[in-house]
Amino acid sequence: MRAAVYHGARDIRIENLPVPVPGPGELLLEVRSAGICGTDALEWDRGPILTPLDRAHPASGHRGPIILGHEFGGRVVDLGPEVDGFGAGDLVACVAGISCGACAACLAGTSNFCDRYFTLGIDCHGGLARYAVADSGACLEVGRIGLDDDRAALVQPMSVALHALRQGKLRPGDTAVVLGVGGVGAFLVYAAAQQGADVLAADLEPSRLAVAKALGASAVLRADPGASPVAGVLRQAGGPVAVVYEVTGTPAALAAALEMVRPRGRVVGVGLGAHSVPIDMRRVTLREIRLVGTRAQVFEADFADAASLIASRSRGWSDVAPISLPLDRLVSGGLLPMAKGRPERIKTLIDPWATAVRPASGTGAGSIDRVSPSLERVIAE
Ligand SMILES: [Zn+2]
Ligand SMILES: [Zn+2]
Repeated sequence: MRAAVYHGARDIRIENLPVPVPGPGELLLEVRSAGICGTDALEWDRGPILTPLDRAHPASGHRGPIILGHEFGGRVVDLGPEVDGFGAGDLVACVAGISCGACAACLAGTSNFCDRYFTLGIDCHGGLARYAVADSGACLEVGRIGLDDDRAALVQPMSVALHALRQGKLRPGDTAVVLGVGGVGAFLVYAAAQQGADVLAADLEPSRLAVAKALGASAVLRADPGASPVAGVLRQAGGPVAVVYEVTGTPAALAAALEMVRPRGRVVGVGLGAHSVPIDMRRVTLREIRLVGTRAQVFEADFADAASLIASRSRGWSDVAPISLPLDRLVSGGLLPMAKGRPERIKTLIDPWATAVRPASGTGAGSIDRVSPSLERVIAE
């Protein structure tokens, strides 16, 4: 099978590898669509940072060149022993983060801090290939809620955004500012708007702000490179806001977030830069600001709701993810522009079976037109 194999910085090779065999509890998926994000671009550009090229990963056991791809779904084509609840032909979305289900963190409902945590496509082979194996416990059947191949690949990044959203403890009617409308920020805008928040999105790029509007932002603000967005946000929002989602990972944006949030409000640090960022702790303390982090997602809590959110957008996601690239365009059309900070679209999809660029699907309506009951539970908390 054709696969995008990471060998080190600026070295991804499209190789022919044997189709993997699913082990106990695993599914073999035919991958029709896989997304890429800043994690992949950073690894390609400046890695290996996360991938276990030189030493075996302590949890996955993988060592050496690795098939990237941690945002994917696919059709079930084979099942390993001891798999329950899936059948051949099912369309599934994969969370990619694998947890043991038995350690204290897993039992406490925080499987994103599992002692044995590893991620497909980062810590062992992932989904940028025609076939991938995935633990069935990390997969959700999504055909029944109306998703198709391309939208199945959007569930994982939406689950990252939804987990981040929940760290903000937004209430309906709250104003939420999203700084940075990229591959997580765009999904955050949609999820926050669906939850009834008044969303103000800020970005440098007018085209991204237009998408943010379409995703439900009630106001958008074009940030100026080198100038603080604080005054513009305060003017548009009519004062300091309840929650700020800082998705850029830059020192300037975090400082701005701490200035635009109201006393006792929340700042959720979503974006990660390459370096640590200084904070004005005096301001945090004296205004009782809740500065919180967010890590990946919790499959059990976030993934089905993320799938429902993807299904709920009746116009589809072609403004966020307009096209799908063949594997041999992965670097030139995806990772390289992202690494340069000039991505050509908010979410880039890869079709391992395509021989040319194709339009992404997702202009049709999903079968679910409202948020799921558990989302509403969060609103009520
Ligand atoms: Zn990602
Ligand atoms: Zn665990």
